[in-house]
Amino acid sequence: MATEIQDLLITLLDAPGPSGHETRATTVWREAAAKFADRVWTDIHGNAFAEINPEGSPTVMMAGHADEIGLMVNHIDDDGYVWVVGVGGWDAQVLVGQRIDLLTAGGTVAGVVGRRAIHMIRGDDGEKAVKLKDLWVDIGASSGEEARSRVEIGDVGVIRSDTIELGEGLLAARSIDNRVGAAVVLDALRRAAGRGSAAHVVACATVQEEIGYLAAGGARTGAYGLDPDVGIVVDVTHATDHPTVEKKEHGDVRLGKGPVLARGAALNRQVVAGLKASAEDEGIAIQLQAMPAMTGTDADAVRMSRAGVPVALVSVPNRYMHSPNQIVSIADVDATAELIGAWLAGLDDGADFHD
Ligand SMILES: [Zn+2]
Repeated sequence: MATEIQDLLITLLDAPGPSGHETRATTVWREAAAKFADRVWTDIHGNAFAEINPEGSPTVMMAGHADEIGLMVNHIDDDGYVWVVGVGGWDAQVLVGQRIDLLTAGGTVAGVVGRRAIHMIRGDDGEKAVKLKDLWVDIGASSGEEARSRVEIGDVGVIRSDTIELGEGLLAARSIDNRVGAAVVLDALRRAAGRGSAAHVVACATVQEEIGYLAAGGARTGAYGLDPDVGIVVDVTHATDHPTVEKKEHGDVRLGKGPVLARGAALNRQVVAGLKASAEDEGIAIQLQAMPAMTGTDADAVRMSRAGVPVALVSVPNRYMHSPNQIVSIADVDATAELIGAWLAGLDDGADFHD
């Protein structure tokens, strides 16, 4: 992978951006895009766009959501403890004992997720799964009044963490779902700019996927506003190459084995076939994934925009989704951008995707 995109990816991964508060992440993205795109802009919801070849055809929308799951301050009690609700889907088990950065009007407020010590956990309580409603964030305040002076209801937060490299070419980070997709669409745009494309190519870092990819996410209005002829959505998907996952149920997806191409009713056959052909031409290994109905990603929103948009979903394998340490392979990230860049370069002028 070019160090350029790797450095961008790590900067993007470390920028906090829970759904509805993606500006820090999309600012990094827009600054990187401005170095080569013909135009960079945002819409009213905060989706960020970058385009090349505006006179070209078809118009391709490549979307990767820039938000991540987070926490929102729900209640501050009179002892100064902060109670939170999830922004997006949490497994509360992974929050226990974590450090939290709360993003407030006055700056970042550090907190820790508290929990009764093992010595005070009696009987069956030790066996029970922790629920989010039973966890509190301790910001070190000595009273409710002090806590309320530092943190406000509705402030959001993320787990404090920084990206680390694991083994040979793996990255572990909190926000891999889906800062990786936002980085890939931008890198695919850069590659298309370098290789040339007949298409008008627009990369989009979408917002609010984690709180409603179909009904409320930014991809819906982003696609409506852009009115693309075809969409490529890049997200992460579950790698199943670790213990305790049943492959018969969840498929066999592995880190380092390349981008994952989804097949199913929501995915346009011609676009999928075109991506497969590009992979073959370029010698890029891909993995396949069955999606008989909805995809559970921005692809559903882009597909259902206006009178319908043909879409494909290209995913980067990700271990430990929605945990503080999600893991991707840098080679997979790179190959995903390369695959889409190759497909864009090979698109015919005015390409049409009707059967
Ligand atoms: Zn997610």
